Amino acid sequence: MLVDNCKMQVICNVEAVGKPEKFIEGGIFKVIKGSCLCGGVTFEIEGEVTPIQNCHAERCRKATGGAYAPELLAAKDGFTWSRGKELLTEYSAPIINEPPAYKRAFCKRCGSPLPVEVGSTGFMMLLAGVLDTDPETREFRHAFIGQKACWHEITNELPSYEGQPPVPDKYKK
Ligand SMILES: [Zn+2]
Repeated sequence: MLVDNCKMQVICNVEAVGKPEKFIEGGIFKVIKGSCLCGGVTFEIEGEVTPIQNCHAERCRKATGGAYAPELLAAKDGFTWSRGKELLTEYSAPIINEPPAYKRAFCKRCGSPLPVEVGSTGFMMLLAGVLDTDPETREFRHAFIGQKACWHEITNELPSYEGQPPVPDKYKK
C-alpha cells in the first residue's frame, strides 16, 4: 500500500496549501518547469498552458535570435518564480501602433528570454525553448508570416496568418 500512501500524502500536502486538485497518473502534482541558460532563474507553471504559436514577426525574431518565437501563454495565477527573481530584467520596445508596449524579460546574467506578463491580461507569455519539462501542448499555427525571414522555409502544414491571428475563444478573457 506504499503507492497509495504516497498518493494520499501528495493530496494532503496540496490541500494544505490550497492548490487546485490537478494530478497526473501516480498522484504527482502536475507542474511545468522552466529555467534560463545559467540556471539562475527558474519558474513553475501549475495547470494548463496554450498551444504554441510560432511568431515570425521581425521583433520576435530579434528578441529570440531565431527564425521565429515559439510562444505560449500561461495563466498568471498559476505562475511562480521559484528562483532568481532578482536576476530578471525587462525591456519595453517603443509602441508602434497601440499599447501595450512590446515587452521582453530576460536574465541579466545569461540573457535568456524569460516569461513576461502580457499587459494586464492575466497571462504570462513565454518561449517554449526555456521549458525543462514537456508542456503537453504542441505547435498549432504560424503568426506574422508576412514578416518571415527570407532564409527560413516553413515545412509543416499548420495554419499560417499574414499578421496577427485571432485569439482562440477558449483563451479569451
Ligand atoms: Zn541566467
